[in-house]
Amino acid sequence: MRRIAVIDKTRCINGFGCDFLCGRLCPVNREGASCIYIDPKDNKPVIDETLCTGCGICPNRCPTQCITILNLPDKLAEEPIMRYGINSFELFKLPIPKQGMVVGILGRNGIGKSTALNILSGSLKPNLGEFSKQLKDSDIIGKYSKTYLGDYFKRLFAGKIKLSYKPQRIEMLQKVYDGKVSDLLSKVDEKNTSDKYLSDLDALHLRGRKLSELSGGELQKVAIVAAASKKADVYFFDEPASFLDITTRIKAARLIRSLADEKTSVMVVEHDLATLDYISDEIQVLFGEIGVYGIVGQSKSVRNGINEYLDGYLTGENMRFRDYAIKFFPVNTERVIGKSIFFEYHSMEKSFRDFNLKVTPGNIRRGEVLAVMGANGLGKSTFLKLLSHEIQPDIGEVEKREISYKLQYPPSNIEGTVREFLEKAAGDKMQSGWYQQNILEKLGLKKLLDNFVSMLSGGELQKLHVAACLSRDCDIYAIDEPSAFIDVEDRLKVAEVIKDFVIKNGVCAIVVDHDVQFIDYIADSMLVFEGDPGKQGHVIGPLGKKDGMNQVLKMLDITYRMDKQTSRPRINKPGSQLDQQQRANGEYYYSLAK
Ligand code: SF4
Ligand code: SF4
Repeated sequence: MRRIAVIDKTRCINGFGCDFLCGRLCPVNREGASCIYIDPKDNKPVIDETLCTGCGICPNRCPTQCITILNLPDKLAEEPIMRYGINSFELFKLPIPKQGMVVGILGRNGIGKSTALNILSGSLKPNLGEFSKQLKDSDIIGKYSKTYLGDYFKRLFAGKIKLSYKPQRIEMLQKVYDGKVSDLLSKVDEKNTSDKYLSDLDALHLRGRKLSELSGGELQKVAIVAAASKKADVYFFDEPASFLDITTRIKAARLIRSLADEKTSVMVVEHDLATLDYISDEIQVLFGEIGVYGIVGQSKSVRNGINEYLDGYLTGENMRFRDYAIKFFPVNTERVIGKSIFFEYHSMEKSFRDFNLKVTPGNIRRGEVLAVMGANGLGKSTFLKLLSHEIQPDIGEVEKREISYKLQYPPSNIEGTVREFLEKAAGDKMQSGWYQQNILEKLGLKKLLDNFVSMLSGGELQKLHVAACLSRDCDIYAIDEPSAFIDVEDRLKVAEVIKDFVIKNGVCAIVVDHDVQFIDYIADSMLVFEGDPGKQGHVIGPLGKKDGMNQVLKMLDITYRMDKQTSRPRINKPGSQLDQQQRANGEYYYSLAK
């Protein structure tokens, strides 16, 4: 057994509201030893893991809960492959790239997925936990000499593996290169395929644009094309679905799959389960404790890997890593039927210089979650602005209602703490037991209340803005892309929080998202946007969930079946018997096919 102490220094507020409380309370310090001491370099505490008795006082009393002390599982007798520094994250084992295959990596944010990819792609040298020493290449190769990884590192360090890497943080591309898309691609296109790939992602028109002018989705397309156009032995794609709309996710998945042949390997990290399921030939699960340690599990079939992940128990490893299973429930479209109509809108039309939106009449019922799906550029945001009277229709009219918005890109430049931000939105409600339990606890915000908003991760910020949106007193809650930046567990928690809130308060929510699995989980009914992106959009619906999902999947040209074990929807392999049968019947959504 080995005890580790991890401090999230970005959250430590020593000198700013905390006066070294951990050190003052530590019983080992009180007896005169130096178990917790201040590092003069950054004025933050350091915990000596060899002296710590694991009494649990400092993690419990730290006002920002930035300390974790735990005993690593016995199975982790071996040393980590990477530890960033004293009291910081450790990674054990690495996923293995396989020729001719797409290996999907599944795990929570902060569990080491990007660290693993950075090591395998050569941008981070593993230190085997010896963070204060400079290891030689031969030390690392020697450590894994009898395994596939030993050979991999040997070839990697000798420059004999050609790698291509699509990073998670695509906004960094804009910081390092400010030229035109075509100039960037001409530098990396070693296969003369960039135009074809741009065309596959409906992005040829971006060639003449500067990187700094691109939206998140456009930048993601360019980053995928740049990585795919290189000649490589191993391709890495870190969260390729982020910022992409529903149609492009599937197109990007097809493109990435096409890169794996008998000489190349592809590795993909992704939280969108439908995309990961579709793209992968095998799954490797990462588990552990967020921000503390991560372990790479065994290779599994796609179905078993995702199902075991949802179950929280890895059979091969005999390891329960979550104390609850994530469950999908078969569709229940009866829930809103019979409830009174809460809000109606009429036929509307709105034109801008280059874009026209047509809306057919519809209504939303009390306690209903109306999900909105469709490609970007078809007028989803315009529709929400019409409902809130932010803009007026050219033809038609809409009843005025108070709408609480969660913006697509939640701002982080907010002064003050999480508590202060939520208090402004929720007022006294914040003290109620229901709010504490069903909003703060479920969204994992309770432990972040004294943290500064500006220091939150992308996922934490997303959950904070969902909470703030639901905290305001309004008729309609419009929530734009709540699944962005958050992992599988949190996506389903966010879905549950929104759904419970809407039912309890008898209000309604309009949720725009591109994650089919998330929508399948949350939606009672659906609006589907179709048309020609950037030119013309029209709305189909509201439809019942079955019909709406059928419409979306038909548009995407994919069919779904239901996994017998977990009830989660899975994309059928194109051309499989079930795929052909469902297409012939016009039943793209599994619930329609018996
Ligand atoms: Fe930092 Fe927490 Fe220690 Fe205070 S108690 S100094 S916030 S680690
Ligand atoms: Fe000290 Fe360890 Fe107890 Fe923290 S958990 S107070 S470091 S002995």
